[in-house]
Amino acid sequence: MTTTTSGSTSERWLNYVNGQWIEADSGKTISVVNPSTLAEIATVPDSGEAETKAAIEAAHTAFQSWSTLSAYERSDMLMRWYHLLMRHQEDLARTMTAEQGKPLSEARGEIAYAASFISWYAEEAKRLYGDIIPATSSAKRMFVLRQPVGVVAAITPWNFPAAMITRKVGPALAAGCTCIVKPAEQTPLTALYMAKLAEEAGIPAGVLNIVTGEASVIGDTLFADSRVAKVTFTGSTEVGKHIMRASADTMKKISLELGGHAPVIVLDDADAELAAEQTLLSKFRNAGQTCVCANRIYVQKGIRPAFEKLLADKIRALKVGDGMDPDSAIGPVIDEDGLNKIQRHVSDAVERGAAVITGGSRREVPKHAGYFFEPTLLTGVDSSMLIMKEETFGPVAPIVEFTDPDDAVRQANDSPYGLASYVFTSNINHAIRLAERLQYGIVGVNDGLPSSAQAPFGGMKESGLGREGGKYGIEEYVEIKYISLGLY
Ligand code: NAP
Repeated sequence: MTTTTSGSTSERWLNYVNGQWIEADSGKTISVVNPSTLAEIATVPDSGEAETKAAIEAAHTAFQSWSTLSAYERSDMLMRWYHLLMRHQEDLARTMTAEQGKPLSEARGEIAYAASFISWYAEEAKRLYGDIIPATSSAKRMFVLRQPVGVVAAITPWNFPAAMITRKVGPALAAGCTCIVKPAEQTPLTALYMAKLAEEAGIPAGVLNIVTGEASVIGDTLFADSRVAKVTFTGSTEVGKHIMRASADTMKKISLELGGHAPVIVLDDADAELAAEQTLLSKFRNAGQTCVCANRIYVQKGIRPAFEKLLADKIRALKVGDGMDPDSAIGPVIDEDGLNKIQRHVSDAVERGAAVITGGSRREVPKHAGYFFEPTLLTGVDSSMLIMKEETFGPVAPIVEFTDPDDAVRQANDSPYGLASYVFTSNINHAIRLAERLQYGIVGVNDGLPSSAQAPFGGMKESGLGREGGKYGIEEYVEIKYISLGLY
């Protein structure tokens, strides 16, 4: 532990490679800063090519033994890891809030959600069945095996520092793959803490490796190495496209969970209270920094005044403050760039004719120098505004009025993104017909929080490739092998 210039204490955390806790060869480090106070809370190694190559070598070697364990042996170790994650839920949550800013209650929820992927896939490991296919000849037998793809590189974002890792590592390890994780620069501590618990759970050296440092150097080393069979990424569409191109030369399997711009459609026949409550949960969780959060709220003319008032009252009740304060519902956003983008979206909307019902500005929180923004409701929004096209990644809810549901579906689908969407209605026919027409990987009908370990999560169009969660998620980590056996 060292003391920083501001007088606060800062811990020195290390990479986890081949079961060892290691510095970067250069000795260089990166600061991890609390986005609420702007104090440095820790440093992590500023790793590059050498440490990444060591992690690839370790994962490649460990794959030989990990992949040949029985599914029951892997499952037991994953279950032990799950129980340790839950036993350390409070400490992990505090680590997450300190580095990411989200309210502690949300961080606790994320740890439970993250751990649920480990327990679900510990079970699923035992059900990775193959097939026997009836042959055309009586002198042949046809078998299909599902085998682990090999070494997996997992690159994750800062907005869900635990769950974005376990959604990948859970199914990968269950299938028999080994992993190298590159967590986001802003939130490496939760990842390293989880690795410590994996070590305690008895997961062997080299099976799970965590390398922190310069994204492009670590990434390029991973993408160029033919021992890495698969890249799984959650983050921005721009970086996702780069990863797809960079992985082409070594023909890696890829899964991409990218950006979103979720539409919400509230029909006149919806329960206004339920629609407002669920839209609030979808929009303001994690201060609006989620890929599935409500970005465009299309509300039918008849219900708009009631819905708008209910939502405005709920937004005004959200307290902004440090995530460790139990009363805080909205913590800081991740950094200054994030804050500036939110302000730019609000200013652009107002200049183009939107009205601010509540919020609209940066919020000062006494004794906290961090990046707080008021929870905001905008009305009179239209498709010319930036907020209707780009991810805001902040606590701003824009309302657009519509009259014809067909027009609302057309506007909702008019986006390069296709991750999550939401419909509020009390009419089952409307629910099914709209859900089927929305070009999105996920549709929440009267449900603002559809994500769950056993369900498929992922997007269409520029929101990505592949699915995480449930029986679909483990398919991303297996090769199908066909064995044709001739009898004599
Ligand atoms: P980002 O800038 O794309 O970064 C994501 C990860 O990629 C980080 O670990 C980052 O490292 C790394 N990275 C950046 N450039 C790289 C490169 N050239 N090579 C290899 N790795 C590279 O995204 P973000 O700002 O952290 O996250 C927000 C985005 O994630 C939003 O668009 C959000 O919608 C999306 N997201 C999607 C999902 C989903 O499931 N679809 C879930 C959560 C978030 P550094 O941090 O070191 O730069």
